[in-house]
Amino acid sequence: MNFSNLHRKNIAEQLTSKQFDLLVIGGGITGCGIALDAALRGMKVALIEKNDFASGTSSRSTKLIHGGLRYLKQLEVKLVHDVGSERAIVHRNARHVVIPEKMLLPIVQDGSLGKNSSSLGLLVYDLLAGVKKDERRKMLNKHDTLKAEPLLATEKLVGGGLYFEYRTDDSRLTIEIAKSAFDNEATLLNYTESKSFIYNDVKKIVGVKALDKLSNNEFEIRATTVVNACGPWVDLLRKEDNSLKGKRLLLTKGVHLVFPYEKLPLQQAAYFDVGDGRMIFAIPRNNITYAGTTDTVYNQSIDKPQCSKEDAEYLLKAINTIFPTVSLKKEDIVSSWAGLRPLIYEEGKSASEVSRKDEVMISDSGLISIAGGKLTGYRLMASKIVDLVAKKLNKDFGTCKTKNFRLSGGEFSNEVDFLKALELFLERGRKAMVPSEKVREWFFRYGKNVSFILDNVIQLRATNTDTQQLFDIAELHYCIAHEMVAHPADFLIRRTGKIFFDRVNTEKQLDSLNSLLSQQLQIESSSSQKNLAEVKEEFEAAVLFE
Ligand SMILES: Cc1cc2nc3c(=O)[nH]c(=O)nc-3n(C[C@H](O)[C@H](O)[C@H](O)COP(=O)(O)OP(=O)(O)OC[C@H]3O[C@@H](n4cnc5c(N)ncnc54)[C@H](O)[C@@H]3O)c2cc1C
Repeated sequence: MNFSNLHRKNIAEQLTSKQFDLLVIGGGITGCGIALDAALRGMKVALIEKNDFASGTSSRSTKLIHGGLRYLKQLEVKLVHDVGSERAIVHRNARHVVIPEKMLLPIVQDGSLGKNSSSLGLLVYDLLAGVKKDERRKMLNKHDTLKAEPLLATEKLVGGGLYFEYRTDDSRLTIEIAKSAFDNEATLLNYTESKSFIYNDVKKIVGVKALDKLSNNEFEIRATTVVNACGPWVDLLRKEDNSLKGKRLLLTKGVHLVFPYEKLPLQQAAYFDVGDGRMIFAIPRNNITYAGTTDTVYNQSIDKPQCSKEDAEYLLKAINTIFPTVSLKKEDIVSSWAGLRPLIYEEGKSASEVSRKDEVMISDSGLISIAGGKLTGYRLMASKIVDLVAKKLNKDFGTCKTKNFRLSGGEFSNEVDFLKALELFLERGRKAMVPSEKVREWFFRYGKNVSFILDNVIQLRATNTDTQQLFDIAELHYCIAHEMVAHPADFLIRRTGKIFFDRVNTEKQLDSLNSLLSQQLQIESSSSQKNLAEVKEEFEAAVLFE
């Protein structure tokens, strides 16, 4: 059986008929990471996600696998050490979606970071994270800092530091983890919401009542342990369980703006001080450059956070100050996204001061809730939770096996193997008449699984004369057959990131892509129209700024 909504009925049947060791609620990176870890240790594990996988915070981050340099200032030494050391592991296990990226930290006169403190801070950062000697930070004088990034404001610049990070695509990383969990016998289903808990006669949770949002069927899932990995929604489930006591979430919103590359043509990714205690990233990626983030306490609808006019103005001002010649305006923004950090409330601390540490809460009914943390530390969080679950199950499931486990698409033994595979795919692409840029785009999205898409191109060429459409169909076919796509937004937001990285061109194709998807999944006309209206609304909201 494939990880596909074409097999939805069978997957739902498994959910209702099996007795699971572990049920995970929430299909962000935290939940999917837990499902994979548990499956690799041989647990019977299920995961349900109320919308699409990664539709919450896990598709709305800064998309970096980073140690959190800024947390050093808050003396979060253990956090920096833990997540910093994870970067190389996450990269090694998913080379196609976790790519090394040099980051420039400009140092300005009277800024919050001095030359000596930055040099020391970056060195400590490298040492804590165990960065290899040849990849450690390099301090630059003013001239070399400007050579690295000529758009920087010169007046107050005194120098810079170049240091090592990784960029990723958060939702793709999450999907690769979900796919890997499924390939290892976990049962995962999107568009399935946990509605209420089922308790036994001593008031312990033994499962949930769930709603399949595509068929409107309600069913029960039985499990010995239940983990609440609902990110910003964690407290809603704790409330449902009557266990919202003690620690609570503090939600803070972070937004990112996207510009055409020619409007913000950075040579180099940068992490700069805004002067109000906040730091902002500006990251060039193919045809766009994106920048963010803000950090403001959030009390509105959790389901649809948006970038407000004030958020956009704040970021525009910050970017125009550090890169004064670009003079960006609101009209230059081509897309945006807003995400919610599920942090743990700490008395007297502002949004950006609150720790990014993860926190585990266990209720009297046995519900294990996890919140906080980072994408980067997902594997460590998962291992901690699965250790706890194994203890509750009172059975030896062995130790964590994810450290050297290659995620779906990322099955390369080392960098040489990775580059060799890229060459082989480029060669196969030439034979299938697929331009090398397209093969590269797919390779850095699907890794080794690009093989399926190239096969699709060959099979479909006879019946499709429009080349662009042929490539879209081949890719969509793969995502439907192997990545659980059920809605056009799944494909355009979470599987390909087109809404963020190619919104203007993609907007013109929404109707045709929706018809293709509806045809393949046999979605009836009224639902197909509804899907189209929903995805159009998402595309419009990305540049609305109300
Ligand atoms: C602006 C911003 C920038 C960030 N940048 C970075 C970064 O660059 N690097 C980094 O390492 N980290 C970063 N982070 C942190 C990181 O994104 C989060 O820690 C991580 O994505 C949280 O994942 P999660 O799975 O816990 O939550 P989510 O991704 O929100 O997943 C929770 C899921 O639970 C589902 N759910 C809710 N209720 C139910 C229910 N009743 N039934 C079933 N499912 C349900 C939701 O639909 C959702 O998909 C950033 C965060 C933000 C907000």
